[in-house]
Amino acid sequence: MVQTATPAQRRFDVVVAGNGPAGGQAARELAASGLSVALVTRETEIGVPVTSTAGTISETLDEFDLPREVVQRDMNGLRLFGPTQKLEIWYEEPSAHVMDFRKLKEFLFREAAGAGAVAFTGTTAREPLLEGGRVVGVRCRVRSDGSVLDLRGRVVVDATGPAGVLASRLALRGRRPARLGSGVEYVMEDLPLDREGRWFDIFLGRQIVPGGYAWISPVAARSAKVGVAWILSYAERTMALEDHLRRFISSERQLVPGPAIETHGGFAYVNGGIRAHARDGFLAIGDAANQINPLFGEGIRHCLWSGRLAARTIREGFESGDLSSRTLSRYDGRWRRYRDFQWPLAAFFHRMLYGATDAQIDYNLRTFQRADLDAITRVLKNRSRWSDRLRLSYPSLKTLVRSFV
Ligand SMILES: Cc1cc2nc3c(=O)[nH]c(=O)nc-3n(C[C@H](O)[C@H](O)[C@H](O)COP(=O)(O)OP(=O)(O)OC[C@H]3O[C@@H](n4cnc5c(N)ncnc54)[C@H](O)[C@@H]3O)c2cc1C
Repeated sequence: MVQTATPAQRRFDVVVAGNGPAGGQAARELAASGLSVALVTRETEIGVPVTSTAGTISETLDEFDLPREVVQRDMNGLRLFGPTQKLEIWYEEPSAHVMDFRKLKEFLFREAAGAGAVAFTGTTAREPLLEGGRVVGVRCRVRSDGSVLDLRGRVVVDATGPAGVLASRLALRGRRPARLGSGVEYVMEDLPLDREGRWFDIFLGRQIVPGGYAWISPVAARSAKVGVAWILSYAERTMALEDHLRRFISSERQLVPGPAIETHGGFAYVNGGIRAHARDGFLAIGDAANQINPLFGEGIRHCLWSGRLAARTIREGFESGDLSSRTLSRYDGRWRRYRDFQWPLAAFFHRMLYGATDAQIDYNLRTFQRADLDAITRVLKNRSRWSDRLRLSYPSLKTLVRSFV
């Protein structure tokens, strides 16, 4: 049951700011290990507003013990449409899911609270509390009455997503220029979707969204999340992103212009992540540390992992009695090992994708049509090998070279 916070409950072992996949998972695991945890969210209704399409590979459910109730649709196939070429990958068994992001966040929140975390809803984390250079808590504002609330913790976790309010204040972000990506999607019904909504479709090309892409992500046989996203540094901003979405809807065969029953949207900084995540008494995780995959902006699985790695690191700190950056920065190495070379690879394809001309996109898709589908699957699942990397990036390298000559 969710405990109600009272003013007396202001000291915790750990204060987690933000209740997305990263913060929710960190709070869930930390509370389950017996630490006293505050879970702070500015949301008054958990999961609202919705900021993600929430597609993920099947492994995520098992890895994080997520219930079926968070799944909206099982996906069998992925299609990438270029201006004239396409790539299709169909699996006999469902290999991915579209989740209900609100339900995922509700689930993590419930789990954390059920394990004893004290929930502070409608409470916005504003700035870190510092003593002698050490982070000792978070200054918050309670949205209902505007009052100030100081939550003190021996460790503070910034999991506030792309806002990264605490990490930014501590100058942990922005060492490398981050590319800002933003997206908007509509939930639409009565759509003539192919294969009764079992394909996850991605549409590339400058006539769709310059510097971005569009997607159809089914949530039922005839309903889908339909969206567009772009990376601002590649975008030609001659029209608003939502106008691109409307144009896409009116031009795509599987879509029927009509009212959106919901609108979702959000943003992320895409630069492969920050290098240092820790200060004394502090860790930044998830999108607050730009940990989203740079290719198609897949973040949920990685943010769940970031929450798990953070919980492990913090537990070690409590066990050893050392919560300084010396112990907490073990997270840096753990995160680097987790993302391995997948992020640099994704960053490479990111540049090829968003900066490419239509002809280059078609050329890449034509080459991928002949490539080993298992290798492509491994890349999409962030489990690629060096051989996959070389095999798949070779045509892109050739394209890159050709674009300069
Ligand atoms: C349009 C779009 C579509 C996407 N689609 C996918 C997809 O299909 N699959 C996928 O894997 N990833 C997708 N992503 C990325 C994925 O959603 C994110 O990477 C992931 O949600 C980040 O998790 P997080 O926990 O770090 O942050 P968030 O999910 O952003 O959660 C942060 C939480 O902190 C709260 N918060 C923010 N500021 C404060 C504050 N000051 N005080 C208190 N609380 C605060 C917010 O309310 C929020 O609940 C998408 C992203 C966008 C923008």
